[in-house]
Amino acid sequence: MTGTFIHTRLFACVTVKIRFNPTADASLSTTFSKTPTAHPMARLNDNFRKLKAGYLFPEIARRVKAFTDANPDAAKNIIRCGIGDVTEPLPNACREAMHAAIDELGTRERFHGYGPEQGYEFLRQAIVDHQFAGLGIAADEVFISDGSKCDTGNILDVFGPGNRIAITDPVYPVYVDTNVMAGNTGEANAAGAFEGLLYLPCTAENRFVPAIPAEKADLIYLCYPNNPTGATATREQLADWVTYARANGSIILYDAAYEVFIRDADVPRSIFEIDGAKECAIEFRSFSKIAGFTGVRCAYTIIPKALEGTLADGSRQAVHPLWSRRHSTKFNGASYPVQRGAAAIFTEAGKAEVAALISHYMGNAGLIREACEKAGLSVFGGENAPYVWVQCPAGIDSWGMFDKMLEQANVVVTPGAGFGAAGEGYFRVSAFNSRENVEEVCRRIAAHL
Ligand SMILES: *Cc1c(COP(=O)(O)O)cnc(C)c1O
Repeated sequence: MTGTFIHTRLFACVTVKIRFNPTADASLSTTFSKTPTAHPMARLNDNFRKLKAGYLFPEIARRVKAFTDANPDAAKNIIRCGIGDVTEPLPNACREAMHAAIDELGTRERFHGYGPEQGYEFLRQAIVDHQFAGLGIAADEVFISDGSKCDTGNILDVFGPGNRIAITDPVYPVYVDTNVMAGNTGEANAAGAFEGLLYLPCTAENRFVPAIPAEKADLIYLCYPNNPTGATATREQLADWVTYARANGSIILYDAAYEVFIRDADVPRSIFEIDGAKECAIEFRSFSKIAGFTGVRCAYTIIPKALEGTLADGSRQAVHPLWSRRHSTKFNGASYPVQRGAAAIFTEAGKAEVAALISHYMGNAGLIREACEKAGLSVFGGENAPYVWVQCPAGIDSWGMFDKMLEQANVVVTPGAGFGAAGEGYFRVSAFNSRENVEEVCRRIAAHL
């Protein structure tokens, strides 16, 4: 026993030395970490090992750095149309509401401590009145949170093991990776596709809305308007999905983060515009892209009380109380000033500012579309979404196009393959930028493509 103890400590000393030696050979620490110890540490979640290492945005950052290190002059010229973050400042209406809320917190009379975990009534009711009028959604079916990324990941807490998960390809990577972490998949193959997931290819042929699968899926992730393709689904297509879900006992996880960018009157804004969706769908929405809240953090999830799932004993159970309980246990509510700021987008002043923001970004999208079309490329999206999805010219793949845009035009785009195998052959250009930058990007596309 004593001997083992000394042995372990000896190795512990060696580690310290290795860690502090900047020239240490990585293989040494690898060897060390594989040494069986007498006192194994706590077990970790092995599912994390299945996640793909060379993830999209780090790889983009690596290539941009390599290029700028080698070309310091070009570095100053770089325009980023890659990551999907907003660029324009927060609406004044939101800032004023947040200032006022902060001042309230500074008084004994109007101080707020913990709020309701599910969100303040003033915001839940405003959402229902302004975004779901006439759709029969009640304020207590709206759950306020600090982001849709967390909500789309955390929702897996209420689902049991063994569900067949359907995911569009290309896709917002969060849906895939959270299922990997939760142990709902096997390993990734060489192409990066995870065993056990049902991939629904979205291609130019199906206008990036997947065909209804022949087999049964239990959970289906849909996102319209779509990130990354900028596609929208028609009422008929969503109705087909609702019919499929109801026939199969499936639940649709509908991400409508980009709803505010819809301009065509006949494109549905919510899955709940479809009859029967309240029995088979959850909808995620966020203030991030509507009102520049990516740094402020506020979002919400709609779980109709009519939505049910099945427990292990075969009985039916409503999902709503489970999510409510999950929220109460693991979340302490979004911040009061933030919820006040979010509610301000529904005031007259707020609505006007949001409309101006959206028309700014959609004006950018129109310019990008036009420039790519003039360059002879096939262009999708960008009409009801802030993303333009462009087909690579013949003979060049999506990372090849990324490199070409970086090296020749000094513009950073996102390679389609980074969103899934079916994204190969495309690249995404984000309309989140200043007008000045977008006009310059368009000039460079004209000059280099
Ligand atoms: C940006 C985005 C969201 C919003 O995420 P937040 O965490 O609310 O900022 C959700 N879904 C998709 C597909 C997105 O691109």
